Amino acid sequence: MRPSRRGRASAFRPRSPFEEASNSVDITKSEITVDLNANTRSVDISGWLKDDVIQPFLIDSTGLTGRFVKLGASVNGILTRHDLPPAVAALLGEFLALAVGLANALKYDGVFTLQTKGDGPVPIMVADVTHDGHVRGYAQIRGDTPDAADAANAPVPKLLGQGYLAYTVDFSTSSERYQGIVSLDGATLAEVIRHYFEQSAQFDAAVTLASGQDDAGLWRAAAIVVQHLPPEGGSGGVALDEGDWRRTNLLLSSATSVELLDPGLPPSDMLYRLFNEDGVRVFQPKPVSDVCRCSDERMLGALTALPEQEIEEVLSQGDVVMTCEFCNTTRTFSESDIRSAKSA
Ligand SMILES: [Zn+2]
Repeated sequence: MRPSRRGRASAFRPRSPFEEASNSVDITKSEITVDLNANTRSVDISGWLKDDVIQPFLIDSTGLTGRFVKLGASVNGILTRHDLPPAVAALLGEFLALAVGLANALKYDGVFTLQTKGDGPVPIMVADVTHDGHVRGYAQIRGDTPDAADAANAPVPKLLGQGYLAYTVDFSTSSERYQGIVSLDGATLAEVIRHYFEQSAQFDAAVTLASGQDDAGLWRAAAIVVQHLPPEGGSGGVALDEGDWRRTNLLLSSATSVELLDPGLPPSDMLYRLFNEDGVRVFQPKPVSDVCRCSDERMLGALTALPEQEIEEVLSQGDVVMTCEFCNTTRTFSESDIRSAKSA
């Protein structure tokens, strides 16, 4: 884990939003700030969301900002809707938490998509997150997967294999698109994403991820993403010496999976545990929910966008059954459904 930034450019990066988003500005504009170190808090945070939540924070001594993503029912819903082997469910859980953490380091109005493509038994993994915290995801499986114990130490090479991790940001208000890509170079997802940021000349991030099942067998996942945007990298950045950055990385890596996933430990308490010596403050949390964007209209739209000849072929075979890869919902369309959608 080398927290230094290098000037190497990644293979293909049309435009990376991480390099220009003024994250610190965004976070300090939040309406409520609570200094966790102060003896008297001016705001009562006991009623704040504690699960399925994005908890933004600021480390006082360094000016670094971050997000703690803690997922319970949302990730359990997504993972149990598909009959995934435990090793794959665990990796997809981390992947979903990572996607939410990265998405929330950005200011966007639209959809953030994180995707892997590889030559392993999980050729494709996708998670997408809307600006209002709706998350969904799936993993494709090809052939046999290793068991959870076997995959635990190196899930990326054992499940995803060789390939790449890419993200895109599609804006709802324009055709503009941000994207970035990095090879699946690392044993864990956290290592892969660290490589991405190491290649970024203007932005660095420290990431820790966890996922697992609680005593009742319910899936949980967590991510902490601390971003460092240097002053020369854009507005809102902070000057930081190498020692401070290394220390932040070390503190972050000291968080155990048990602590990160503990449903009884509020996000603010966990952040205080990690960063109290450096001073830490939290901002109003945002909710995360398990919501798929599929609908009859979208599926019919995809069907009717096919070439005429293909549509006729499909219709000649009777009713069309379509299943959403994300949420596993199956919809059946009759010939008249399709014809009327086509003429609409
Ligand atoms: Zn769906």
